[in-house]
Amino acid sequence: MSDMTQDALLDEPDRVPEPVDGLGPTGRPWPVLPPVRPPRTGQRHAVVIALCNQKGGVGKTTTTINLGAALAETGRRVLLIDFDPQGSASVGLGVNPHTLERSVYNLLLSRTLDPFDVIEPTVVDGMDILPANIDLSAAELQLVSEVAREQTLKRVVDKVRGAYDVVLIDCAPSLGLLTVNALTAADSVITPLECEFFALRGIALLTDTIEKVTDRLNPHLVMLGILGTMFDARTLHSREVLERVVQAFGDQVFHTVIRRTIKFPETTVAGEPITTYAPNSAGADQYRMLAREVLARCPDV
Ligand code: ADP
Ligand code: MG
Repeated sequence: MSDMTQDALLDEPDRVPEPVDGLGPTGRPWPVLPPVRPPRTGQRHAVVIALCNQKGGVGKTTTTINLGAALAETGRRVLLIDFDPQGSASVGLGVNPHTLERSVYNLLLSRTLDPFDVIEPTVVDGMDILPANIDLSAAELQLVSEVAREQTLKRVVDKVRGAYDVVLIDCAPSLGLLTVNALTAADSVITPLECEFFALRGIALLTDTIEKVTDRLNPHLVMLGILGTMFDARTLHSREVLERVVQAFGDQVFHTVIRRTIKFPETTVAGEPITTYAPNSAGADQYRMLAREVLARCPDV
């Protein structure tokens, strides 16, 4: 099969017809979502959300970038924290990880460095990034001997909360010390799940880690929601997987589902979110709808 044919098969029409039975892709009726409210006025105190799943390639980075951009479109001030040594969120927003003088890594190891000297603006109005690169892979080992090693990122996050409405942390595909740091710094977790067989494999381990962090380090941490990604409406298989996810997690599952489209890999190459790369695409709309659901679940933002 040529690459072209494969791309065409992967791609979906921009506008997928609404299901006639009134049910959304998760098999539940669409909820009535409140209209998007303007951001709160007065002193900011960001809500911190970790995008977490120890499986790679499930859409954590794509969701961090595009949910962030969709939230910024509503007037929120958004900070993305790239917390994966692969630096994919940085690359996806046009930051070259190899030429970074300083990154989130330096902030973890220095108590005096000012986070605002490391944070960079992005192409999206109102959205900044704390970039990462391969240096971060050393932090996992270096932090082990630190006092309060699990609270190191929290110390950084607490310094910037006053400048943002939302902070999104793009976690690495592991449940190691970096991810524990992200969960300790966060108020809530969003877990993207690929609509594939075995998607639920490993989720027990993730839930277990979240419970441990809640017990020992961060009693306020909650699961904000589970997001179906890479959904292919044309296959029964995708629907079956979603059905099982809803059976297992009920209302925690977002009604919004992100469909599979070649546009997402394209946005990475372009170094911008889908909301600016293809603002009228179905993918952009899906992330805007997710932003509305997130706002509905976070009344303080
Ligand atoms: P993770 O951060 O969990 O490893 P990514 O967000 O990097 O996952 O996604 C993995 C790959 O899949 C990337 O190449 C990304 O462009 C692609 N991708 C993500 N979401 C979609 C989607 N809805 N449809 C098609 N490709 C996607
Ligand atoms: Mg990633």
